[in-house]
Amino acid sequence: MSRSPSWPGSPQSDSPATTPDAGPLNVLWLQSGGCGGCSMSLLCADTPDFHALLRDAGVNLMWHPSLSLASGDEFLDLLEACLQGRTRLDVLCVEGALLRGPHGSGRFHLLAGTGRPMIDWVQRLASVARHVVAIGACAAWGGPSAIGVASGLNPTEACGLQYEDDHRGGLLGTDFQGQAGLPVVNVAGCPTHPGWVIDSLAALAAGEMAPTDLDPLGRPRLYADQLVHHGCTRNEYYEYKASAEKPSDLGCMMEHMGCKGTQAHADCNTRLWNGEGSCTRGGYACISCTEPGFQSPGHPFHTTPKLAGIPIGLPTDMPKAWFVALASLSKSATPRRVKLNAVADHPVVPPAVKKTRLP
Ligand code: SF4
Ligand code: SF4
Repeated sequence: MSRSPSWPGSPQSDSPATTPDAGPLNVLWLQSGGCGGCSMSLLCADTPDFHALLRDAGVNLMWHPSLSLASGDEFLDLLEACLQGRTRLDVLCVEGALLRGPHGSGRFHLLAGTGRPMIDWVQRLASVARHVVAIGACAAWGGPSAIGVASGLNPTEACGLQYEDDHRGGLLGTDFQGQAGLPVVNVAGCPTHPGWVIDSLAALAAGEMAPTDLDPLGRPRLYADQLVHHGCTRNEYYEYKASAEKPSDLGCMMEHMGCKGTQAHADCNTRLWNGEGSCTRGGYACISCTEPGFQSPGHPFHTTPKLAGIPIGLPTDMPKAWFVALASLSKSATPRRVKLNAVADHPVVPPAVKKTRLP
């Protein structure tokens, strides 16, 4: 098996790197330096029977710290069986940042009962796993657990599996590939949407994930090829640049309230959370939690940094001159209804009643 670098998008990476094995996908889930929120989010999967959902997706969750009864020797026996090849380890899922401190020893986080650093277990298990999957921003990039990394303050030396903030490397290194040839699959988000996790594992179980199914940051394109802006209920306000000015306003939150939905790679407004919600539908700006470094944006989350009155973070794929021209044109054409409703907490001007039938 070749271990040469093969990053997403490289010419040789258009064929599936995985082949389905006989039997379900054996998944081992470890938690490291994080809040556990991605596991809690996973339990919000849109199903009345979580275990049946996994079973139907071809996933055998061998062990999870919150969902499994096995602990102590039984759990450690499983880890040894994976390392010795007696149990096939198809997917090593890691949730939480990898804590390398103090001084690279990893001893800030020892795996209970072993006296060995968690980073040591992760490195050894990753070397035998067919796939390694980072669950959430912390495991992918370091995330909130490495909040000071951009300013050189990272006392726990937290990092992601294959990234440290937005630099490739992390615990496993730039060139790491699982035994099946994929780099670390970064199911990034804070927390992850349960659908992103389940669909990614299902794709791996079906042998349907190739390097070309990952974006340039290793995120599954099944969710990362979308923008949060797609499907946002505030799109009419965005079109007319009718902007919210305070929390609870109905208008678009890009101009004043810090929304990065036009730049954030995720399908939160088309897949929805808990079947019905999203940050922007709940009145909160998207802070682009699927992006490395989102936790330290360099400005308060709820404000939009501007230069000469123009937001610095312009929509993805839109040149600045176009945005400025479009914004001034659309502001001059904003209907009264949209303008007034944008700064209210409920629609104060209803749409006009109009016949749409041809005469
Ligand atoms: S609130 Fe954010 S996601 Fe919604 S329309 Fe405005 S910029 Fe797009
Ligand atoms: S809307 Fe933005 S901040 Fe909220 S979960 Fe989605 S990507 Fe993250």
